[in-house]
Amino acid sequence: MVSFVRKAVRSVRRRFSGTITHVETAEPLVALTFDDGPDPVITPALLKLLGGHGAKATFFMTGEHAAAYPELVAAVRDGGHAIGNHSWDHPSFPLISGRERRSQIRRCAGVLPGSDRSLFRPPYGHQSTASRRDALLTGHEVIAWSVCVPDWEDHDGEWLADFALQRITPGSVVLMHDGMVDFLGAASPGREATLDAVGRILAALHGRYGFITVPELLRRGKAVRTAWWMEPDLEILNSLQRKSGTPRRYALPELSR
Ligand SMILES: [Zn+2]
Repeated sequence: MVSFVRKAVRSVRRRFSGTITHVETAEPLVALTFDDGPDPVITPALLKLLGGHGAKATFFMTGEHAAAYPELVAAVRDGGHAIGNHSWDHPSFPLISGRERRSQIRRCAGVLPGSDRSLFRPPYGHQSTASRRDALLTGHEVIAWSVCVPDWEDHDGEWLADFALQRITPGSVVLMHDGMVDFLGAASPGREATLDAVGRILAALHGRYGFITVPELLRRGKAVRTAWWMEPDLEILNSLQRKSGTPRRYALPELSR
């Protein structure tokens, strides 16, 4: 009995503090996820590519981009894909106030239609105890990833696809980008390499893996949760450039308010 209670407490605690990275399953299933979109050029091309393989994916959109391209949000939804919340305009959550975090999530949720609004992916993957709590307070489940494809770096599609294919196993959640809110250096790396990589991944795993959405993957297996505390690097964050608008600059004293 005591061990049962202890187990139950541990399970509740894990549910409260844990962040989903992937799913435990023996079935060959994988969830491709695309962050920072929708993008007027890349997202439609990506939808076509996925459709050609009967593949479903999950799009973690920023509210700002979703509000700018409602027809793309509808196209993603109509294609049977899932849509998750990636904040309004992509700040590092541990570096802003709790009030702003909750407002970022709610404002984004306001422009995302449908029933998958309860999925949240923190910008940059940055998370603190306080920001995890705010996701919970706004009714969101935090979804991180188990395979992070570095498509913000300068790699071609073949390299990115090989990187992903070496790491994908049943139940993987794969992070890529169909948009790019901000970037290192002088120019935004094009998303064409990501498109090329997705085509190669879909072709390589065609008939061997099922490509499904995160909500569907969560229904098909057991969510694996981990203590996910990714701390922001202020120097890198403050050097990022944005395609449009003024890049956000952070000061240390804002930390953990
Ligand atoms: Zn992002």
